[in-house]
This record gives sequence, structure tokens and C-alpha cells, in this order.
Amino acid sequence: MFLAYCDECEERFLLPANHITAVHNLDSGVIAIELTCYERHKIVVLSGKDIDIPGPATV
Ligand SMILES: [Zn+2]
Repeated sequence: MFLAYCDECEERFLLPANHITAVHNLDSGVIAIELTCYERHKIVVLSGKDIDIPGPATV
């Protein structure tokens, strides 16, 4: 499950892994995870050791 905030819904969702549409490995160990909320809005969550925000919770 991934905790993600949708700007359009202005709500935080706990999304199952099947809402992931893409995962990108960026520079310096940062991972960008693209998800869709329950209204099918696109959400991008950044994760990785250098990011100082709560990353997605692994299953
Ligand atoms: Zn949304």
C-alpha cells in the first residue's frame, strides 16, 4: 500500500500497488512513483534515501 496525496482531490489516499502506473529511477537514488488516485488523477510520489518526506510504505 502507498500513502499518496492527490492535489486534485485534496485528500490523502492509501493506494494499493495496482494503482502504480510507472516507476522511474532518478538521479542520486531518488525514485519517482506514478500512481492514480481512486478518481484516476495522476499522483507522483518521490521516494528514496535522500528525500526528507515520508516515502511510500512497502507492503
Ligand atoms: Zn484525485
